[in-house]
Amino acid sequence: MRLSEIYAQSKPVISFEIFPPKTDEGLTPLLAELQKLKQLNPWLISVTYGAGGTTQGRSLFLLEKIVKELQLELMTHLTCIGSSEKSILEFLKKISGWGVENILALRGDFPKNDPDYQPESDVFQHAIDLVKFANRHTNANIAVAGFPEKHPESASLQSDIVYLKEKIEAGAGAIFTQLFFNNQYYYDYVSALRTAGITVPVIPGIWTITNLKQIQRIAELSRAEIPADLLNKLQQADEKGVREIGITYAGEQIKDLLANGAPGVHLYTLNKADTVTEVLKRVF
Ligand code: FAD
Repeated sequence: MRLSEIYAQSKPVISFEIFPPKTDEGLTPLLAELQKLKQLNPWLISVTYGAGGTTQGRSLFLLEKIVKELQLELMTHLTCIGSSEKSILEFLKKISGWGVENILALRGDFPKNDPDYQPESDVFQHAIDLVKFANRHTNANIAVAGFPEKHPESASLQSDIVYLKEKIEAGAGAIFTQLFFNNQYYYDYVSALRTAGITVPVIPGIWTITNLKQIQRIAELSRAEIPADLLNKLQQADEKGVREIGITYAGEQIKDLLANGAPGVHLYTLNKADTVTEVLKRVF
């Protein structure tokens, strides 16, 4: 099912993000987690794509398994920086042959800590180049990334929104956001996008905190602000307490977003079904 049909629902759309494991041995346990995630009746599963195409093989393996064996609706992430037109085209052909109808078109970043990485080409500079390329070569629905707290490289949120609008005008029909913990950033962002004439669904990305060190690292990378009172509570809790606080917070965050008109939520599962199961129990 295409994103345009999925987000035409009157019900909130619950979707999950998974990532390809680092090794082939990680694939079997992930498929078991996916069976558990399926029990939660998600509308959509998205599969991330390694920086510079570094996990392309395992992304493809997962996509094929999910379509053919689990019969879940899919969106594949696809990054373009460093890739050649030929390798992107091969990927698009494969997934379209399996009936994958949705692509999250991203620029990506060059892989860090990989001294052997050699870009194939410099033909793709920004996500918009991929949006245009994918539009020319597939019938898939295309989504793009949005950054309520501004992309770390951007001079201003306003310049980000100008480029985002170009991607929408080039054919992208939905925006999946970077994670955030303060819903006000999302509400202000949606309002700024509507003022700029961007009318497509803006789907909030929700991260459930289960580990303090991990979230401090992620927040630093993504520049997502952790509200001071939440951080305070997390710093005073033990390991089990952190998880409980994180699950409760994500549940409240989702309830607030859905009550205030978000079309759904996209949950980062970190390839574990138990945490998102707990979160959704607090919501529905
Ligand atoms: P772009 O749209 O190219 O934007 C990057 C920067 O360039 C921004 O500052 C923007 O304002 C600016 N810009 C945009 N267009 C232009 C232009 N035409 N001229 C000049 N400047 C411009 N990464 C992965 O490697 N794999 C994944 O699976 C993945 N999934 C993600 C999912 C989500 C929901 C999000 C939010 C991010 C994801 N990322 C992933 C990370 C993403 O690849 C990085 O954040 C990357 O730095 C930016 O990608 P983009 O598509 O926004 O790029």
